[in-house]
Amino acid sequence: MSSPESTARVSLVLVLVLLVAVAGAAYYFGLPEPLENAIGQAMEHLAAATAVQNWMLYLLVSTSLPALVLLGKLVFGRRPGFLDYTNDRFLGLTWRWRYRRFGRPDVPWAYCSVCDTALIYNSEGDGGRMRTVLTCETCDRTVLQHEGDAQYLAAKILRQIERRIRTGEWQTAVRS
Ligand SMILES: [Zn+2]
Repeated sequence: MSSPESTARVSLVLVLVLLVAVAGAAYYFGLPEPLENAIGQAMEHLAAATAVQNWMLYLLVSTSLPALVLLGKLVFGRRPGFLDYTNDRFLGLTWRWRYRRFGRPDVPWAYCSVCDTALIYNSEGDGGRMRTVLTCETCDRTVLQHEGDAQYLAAKILRQIERRIRTGEWQTAVRS
């Protein structure tokens, strides 16, 4: 059995062996004269200076910057950290938050899962009978009714966010 990865690895080794053989033969027997001349001319051309007007230089440099940034990202592409975990779904809603200093998540806010509008919080009742009603003004509907005040609801979601950061479950949310 050979997987595509092992086939690719064998091909790479074969190409490397071939390159080393060709380089060895060229070193031992010398290169054919036309090839040697062509290489010499190419080296001379690369070593020569080209005078261009400054505006053209700036244009060339500025247009090549995005390509360099892209190349840098490809080569040094960083893996997402938990600070990239800034939204998730809890209680059937989307929640978003930022991070304070030392990577502590700030108070999360709920968004409508249909239209993505930030929801309006209304706490009703008093004492032990408080409840919080979340409404979407765009869809004009009540999205969630939850026991306790808004602070209690936010703290509940915050505990879930911190749990997912601790357990590493955040990585699944960032990938999806
Ligand atoms: Zn909505």
